Amino acid sequence: MSVGVILPSIRSDSAIVRQMCSIRHVIDDARAAGSLDPLFAHLYSAIERNTPADLLEEAACGPRCAWCCYTRVPATAPEILFLVRGSGSGLPASVIRAIPELADRRRNGWGRSLHESLAPCAVLEDGLCTAHSHRPIACRTTMSLDADQCRRACSEPEEALIPTAMSAVALRAVYDIALRGALLNAGYSPQRFDLATGLEEAVVSARAEAVWLDGDDPFPSALRIDEEDYLDEPVRRALYEAAFG
Ligand code: SF4
Repeated sequence: MSVGVILPSIRSDSAIVRQMCSIRHVIDDARAAGSLDPLFAHLYSAIERNTPADLLEEAACGPRCAWCCYTRVPATAPEILFLVRGSGSGLPASVIRAIPELADRRRNGWGRSLHESLAPCAVLEDGLCTAHSHRPIACRTTMSLDADQCRRACSEPEEALIPTAMSAVALRAVYDIALRGALLNAGYSPQRFDLATGLEEAVVSARAEAVWLDGDDPFPSALRIDEEDYLDEPVRRALYEAAFG
């Protein structure tokens, strides 16, 4: 039987294509301003606006419930750089001191089961995210319907079944695909890094944000998440072509 090749047909006025185009414009604004602020003011307020109210009500997530902060977190270079800058004052010294140990743990556990590199995110203090307003897309769009299963995932990962709402899965897909497509079109890498090893490099140089805005790679040795090129996946390619021709 011939399976054929599936070519998704995507309308240029679909929500995800419109998001990709609008993010592309604010990347230009960020480049002109020499600051990531215009990009993330737009992106993170769009995610907040488009998070369904019933999803927030339904989710089991809340302050000091941070089981999902023990796992590997994928993030693009600008998300990591924006997180490090925080709300102007940067990350607390205690957080910066904790980053190398966590990065080592992630490196040593890479390629092994996820359970072997579980450890609290360096940015987590006393169960709270110290960079909550600057956290990346993956953290903003992770929503569980059962906190007890999240806890179980950190001790008995084979037994845990974490229920999540389809609307949370869709929210993450829209903004992950839209941001990475816009970055690619603007001449930046759409690659996602492991957050812990990205943070390790981002905190070393006060110029990391400027280096990235100039088109250079501030994370030469951070662990890379994506094994395939962004455009190798047919749906992403179709969305990208609908946005940029
Ligand atoms: S950045 Fe914040 S929300 Fe994301 S994993 Fe780290 S502590 Fe958790």
